[in-house]
Amino acid sequence: TRVDAVLHFASAASPPSYLTLPIETLMTGSAGTRNALELAKRYGARFLLASTSEVYGDPHEHPQREDYWGHVNPIGPRSVYDEAKRFAEALTMAYHRTHGVDTGIVRIFNTYGERMRPDDGRVITNFVVQAIEGRPLTVYGDGSQTRSFCYVDDEVRGILALLDSGVHEPVNIGNPDEFTILELTEVVMDVVGVRPGVVFDPLPVDDPVQRCPDITRARELLGWEPTVSLREGIARTLAWIRTTRF
Ligand code: UDP
Repeated sequence: TRVDAVLHFASAASPPSYLTLPIETLMTGSAGTRNALELAKRYGARFLLASTSEVYGDPHEHPQREDYWGHVNPIGPRSVYDEAKRFAEALTMAYHRTHGVDTGIVRIFNTYGERMRPDDGRVITNFVVQAIEGRPLTVYGDGSQTRSFCYVDDEVRGILALLDSGVHEPVNIGNPDEFTILELTEVVMDVVGVRPGVVFDPLPVDDPVQRCPDITRARELLGWEPTVSLREGIARTLAWIRTTRF
């Protein structure tokens, strides 16, 4: 058997999913990562870890560069995901240093688009489904928190470029266009062409206040940058969601 690459993308990734699977999420990031690394070691395959902007926690540096160590609550409800991914990064680097495994680490920032589950629970799918159904958009907190959303085609292109490179250090793959959640409600309502308004719900515990990737490293090492704007990506996501049960 020949194995060229092991891409370790296993994990609950949406906050509502990992909050209902806390121990499973920690075990996927720890024991699951070890299993996947052992496989890569056995076959001499390149290993790519799907990591996350969550390793930066609620960041005190903005935008986030890969050499920022992060600001993570180690015992909060969100830690089951953040710390699992931080451990997974540490284990990946240890396999590289100890066993010489050809490893890579992609830090994925909020990604969305076609084939995402409409009821996944993340913000863009929630807002698009709510707008289609004419229900008010559920803003958590006051909507002043920011995120930087990457369309799935851009994200995949960046991940494949990292896979094909020999880069071992973590690389941010995300779109640096940053929006507040309130700004996002306006874009979604414009694209869907409805004005159902918004309702304000409680902010989840430890929800990061701001998040934006510095993608200098991806530009320099991979020649990669995103090309799909938020408006265009939401239009494509809307077209796709309309072909499902909605
Ligand atoms: N959010 C929101 N309404 C929703 C879902 C999420 O206001 O219906 C907010 C959430 O509190 C966070 C941001 O949107 O500040 C992104 O949330 P998501 O769960 O998509 O991803 P996260 O970046 O938190 O992992």
